Amino acid sequence: MPSCQLCGEDSDKLKKTKIEGAVMKVCSSCTDMGDVIEQKEKKTKKKRKTTTYRPKDTEVLANKYGEKIKEAREDRKLSIKELADSLNEKASLIKKVEREDLKPEKALANKLSKELDITLYVNPEVSDHRIESTSDKKATLGDVANVKD
Ligand SMILES: [Zn+2]
Repeated sequence: MPSCQLCGEDSDKLKKTKIEGAVMKVCSSCTDMGDVIEQKEKKTKKKRKTTTYRPKDTEVLANKYGEKIKEAREDRKLSIKELADSLNEKASLIKKVEREDLKPEKALANKLSKELDITLYVNPEVSDHRIESTSDKKATLGDVANVKD
């Protein structure tokens, strides 16, 4: 039978307890003298399924990104040139992006997103309902919608 390192009482229910900086195995009545060190091994680190988390690299350019940009820009009553100037980009570049002749790289997309308060890169897993909420269903949904659940 092990005995309490503090009072010497025999007990088979000794608990590791930190008392004044020292860790001792003590009986249940001595645990009050300090802080019991939980002996339950921290098995809470279960492998969590990371189904909801996606690294940003999986994000794809939003459907109708050009339209989004154009609408947001027009909402703000900005001309393409004004928008381009505020982003420090060329108007011709913005024009191409609005026409979807050119996919903005992420750096540009980020600038546009911030400036216009829109989302250009979306997570394909969660974007489906957003696409459905747009009115023009005739438009090709493109890469985003083709991603299956
Ligand atoms: Zn004791």
